Amino acid sequence: MSIVKLEQIGFTYNESWVLKDVSFEVDKGDFIGIIGPNGSGKTTLLKVIDGILTPREGEIWINGALTQTLKRENLAKIIAVVPQESLMIFPFTVHEIVLMGRAPHLGKWRFEGETDFRIAHHAMEMTDTLSLMNRGMNALSGGERQRVLIARALAQQPQIMLLDEPTAFLDIKHQVDFFDLIKTLNKNQALTVIAVTHDINLASLYCDRIILLHNGNIHCMGSPEEVISESSIKDVYETNVAVDRNPVTGKPRVTPLSAHPSEGGSRFDAGAAPQL
Ligand code: ADP
Repeated sequence: MSIVKLEQIGFTYNESWVLKDVSFEVDKGDFIGIIGPNGSGKTTLLKVIDGILTPREGEIWINGALTQTLKRENLAKIIAVVPQESLMIFPFTVHEIVLMGRAPHLGKWRFEGETDFRIAHHAMEMTDTLSLMNRGMNALSGGERQRVLIARALAQQPQIMLLDEPTAFLDIKHQVDFFDLIKTLNKNQALTVIAVTHDINLASLYCDRIILLHNGNIHCMGSPEEVISESSIKDVYETNVAVDRNPVTGKPRVTPLSAHPSEGGSRFDAGAAPQL
């Protein structure tokens, strides 16, 4: 049984369809990437899976249960979200933030107990944030803050982790550190990961399967090798790229082609190059 199943999902904010006829299944322990141009519906799709937005058409099953039949707090016991770091400015300590992950599990009186503190402690251990626990969230670097947000998500003890452009504001080292940590959790704990990213090369490196969205539809999905091609990227992003194999990982590697031939590109032929 798949852990997430979407069947013919359609969604509108206003009158126009932002998602249309989106169907796919995710197995436990999968690492799925959702890529596509700005405005193609990636974040909306994540919010629909998370139950924040209700689809206008179609059905979603989480662990075999229709999401409409699940209460919000029960969904939050299964699904945790790691958002973009820049959106999270909190006047709280790291420890307080991580404990917030326990919210869906708290009893009637909403007080954390010994178990909650132990789980939060373990989440900080796994993300190497224990030494930061008494620091203010606002006094951390972007990379540290993202590790804390993973810790908060882990404290939720989810089966599914949704990542919404989680490394958009991180430098290359911290991007790789972030995804290495997520991949370790994915492998060691069979954590199911669904990650929205605009970085096609990161998706290629870490994801088992990729969904390429275009105007709210699935253009194609499959392994990185099946999805990432010069033609699919051209069709969807409307730009020329070269796709070859990363010499170290063997994964598809996308190189944008510049409009300027001297920069190694060939987007325009010399005669047609625009006058700047
Ligand atoms: P992506 O994450 O791929 O950039 P989004 O899911 O954020 O795409 O947006 C898809 C489309 O829905 C865009 O055209 C965007 O303008 C529109 N949209 C997003 N959020 C809202 C909203 N709250 N109200 C109305 N339209 C929205």
